[in-house]
Amino acid sequence: MNAPTPPPWQRRVSRGVSVGGVALGGNAPVSVQTMTKTDTGDAEATLTQIKSAAAAGVDLVRVAIPRAEVLDSFERICAESPLPVIADIHFDYRLALEAARRGAAKLRLNPGNLGGPERLAQVLEAASAAGIPVRVGVNAGSLPKDLLEQYGPCAEAMATAAQRMVAEAQGLGFADLVVSLKASDVPRTVQANRLFAAESDLPLHLGVTEAGLGQEALIRSAVGIGTLLAEGIGDTIRVSLTDDPAEEVRAGRQILQALGLLPGPVLVSCPTCGRCQVDLRPVAEEIRQALTSVEQPVVVAVMGCEVNGPGEARHADIGLAAGKDSAVLFRGGKIVRRVPIGEAAAALLEELAKLSP
Ligand code: SF4
Repeated sequence: MNAPTPPPWQRRVSRGVSVGGVALGGNAPVSVQTMTKTDTGDAEATLTQIKSAAAAGVDLVRVAIPRAEVLDSFERICAESPLPVIADIHFDYRLALEAARRGAAKLRLNPGNLGGPERLAQVLEAASAAGIPVRVGVNAGSLPKDLLEQYGPCAEAMATAAQRMVAEAQGLGFADLVVSLKASDVPRTVQANRLFAAESDLPLHLGVTEAGLGQEALIRSAVGIGTLLAEGIGDTIRVSLTDDPAEEVRAGRQILQALGLLPGPVLVSCPTCGRCQVDLRPVAEEIRQALTSVEQPVVVAVMGCEVNGPGEARHADIGLAAGKDSAVLFRGGKIVRRVPIGEAAAALLEELAKLSP
């Protein structure tokens, strides 16, 4: 089997923290996060969504705590979740104190909206006592007024806001920080993270906020997160979609796989051209579906003609090249047997099963 090629860039060395036993930063693999969309007061529904995200391969999950009434439910969610749970809190510092006490593996907050340095100090003290890190997040949509006046809503203002938050937390003696700088557009998100990363060794959580729906959102997230990861920047990622958390997780994992940061199967399928004599799409689709349950780093090629197929896919572990009524199966670019076209996908999956360790 092809050994996965390590990415040819240096990863930025960041300080490591632990989120409920999941290492974040340092040399740890880039982790994938999502956020539940259920009412946190409904523990059943929230746990169901967490379990479905866990089945899709998520490492960490974040849950909003909008009011004190959901704290009992949050405690139960933390106790029963198969993954570390991060508490997302705005404005009410007392919710952060309670979340730290009731099982949160990390707090996500904006130090600027907790009501002053004294309250922030209490929250950081509670996080220290619980042994949990804190993510401070800058959002382009809610920058401090003085920075907006000085810079406008740009990447420099975002990076400066993040540096200010970090200095405030560190000034209070708290070091276990993770930082995020998010905008809804890619250029500002990328530039703000670059500016911050050049000045700090704190681990970075990447995401393009409010990315939206469907293909547009996936592309915007993949370009924003992927650009930074390809520069070695970023320790954990969240793809924000107006969709199910499991979809966010699948997208996050695919971004990591595309960059060679997460081992997994790769489907190479040709775009077809005038040489192709079959409808290749359903064949490729059947194989794509089958690969969703495969974890091994296998490269599978589905090619539309026997002339160029095997040669073009010579780096694949296994593949097929479709002719008019039949397809040839190949391994490592060499033909191994011929099968009727209707059985091609099943035959290729049989070959794949033989490769399993
Ligand atoms: Fe065309 Fe064959 Fe290349 Fe596919 S593999 S694009 S069918 S030449």
